[in-house]
Amino acid sequence: MQVFSLSNKIALITGGGSGIGLEITRCLKEAGATVVITGRREEVLRQTIQELGEGAYYFVNDVTDLSKLPQFVADIESQVGPIDILVNNAGINMKKPALEVTDEEFQRIIQTNLNAVFSLTRECARRMITRGSGSIIMITSMAAYYGIDRVAAYGASKTAVSGLIKILASEFSPHNVRINAIAPGFIETAMMKTAMSGDPDRMNRALRRTPMNRFGKPSDIGYAAVFLASEAAAYITGVSLPVDGGNSIGF
Ligand code: NDP
Repeated sequence: MQVFSLSNKIALITGGGSGIGLEITRCLKEAGATVVITGRREEVLRQTIQELGEGAYYFVNDVTDLSKLPQFVADIESQVGPIDILVNNAGINMKKPALEVTDEEFQRIIQTNLNAVFSLTRECARRMITRGSGSIIMITSMAAYYGIDRVAAYGASKTAVSGLIKILASEFSPHNVRINAIAPGFIETAMMKTAMSGDPDRMNRALRRTPMNRFGKPSDIGYAAVFLASEAAAYITGVSLPVDGGNSIGF
């Protein structure tokens, strides 16, 4: 259906070379967008671009290097074109009891999952507002809503981003720039495997908390991103969309 088409749109996906970000990239490209992926590992990005074919670009960058983000956005726009869609997907997690988390560990996660997300959003939104259109998507987590144990910094960062979208939505809406979040449930990626530490009991508990009785696929998140980025969601801003097989109703 035409309303879901992203033809003539340019999408920037942070962490687009692996996991959920890679699948978001594939889905946005399938919907017609030109995609730009970023991350720290050049080899991963180069291989991904080769697989994706025409209409895909990569830029190596570490989102935590905040002072470089304005130039990073300027480089993408001068070499590829104006960014219509930003997906703030890059994120890190760490499972540890709160009392054992050091200040450095806490700050490292906040720097990646919150500070970098805000700075990159500001740089892209500035340009989108000047042009009078844009769609920004954050990837948050169930940890933003529930007291999940051993993810103090991660949960705090995702909770902050969930709040941030409402504030930014109220500021950006008059300029036709929408900002929403996807809150994934248990999605089968390297991050989830690490978080579960290969522990079958944890996996079974997670499944029992998921009414649809299966873990999510990265493409479940990818197609939600297509919807939120497209004209089909033209009147939607400031919301968090759970894509979680029902976790949020049955947790
Ligand atoms: P992965 O660990 O598989 O991928 C994370 C991506 O982020 C990688 O491509 C990595 O690329 C990139 N990244 C991490 N740090 C940086 C950095 N400093 N600068 C640039 N890029 C960075 O994670 P997932 O795919 O599982 O997670 C993606 C998002 O989804 C995250 O925001 C996560 O919090 C969220 N999420 C995941 C869930 C799950 O069950 N998997 C559940 C809920 C939310 P590189 O290493 O090359 O820099």
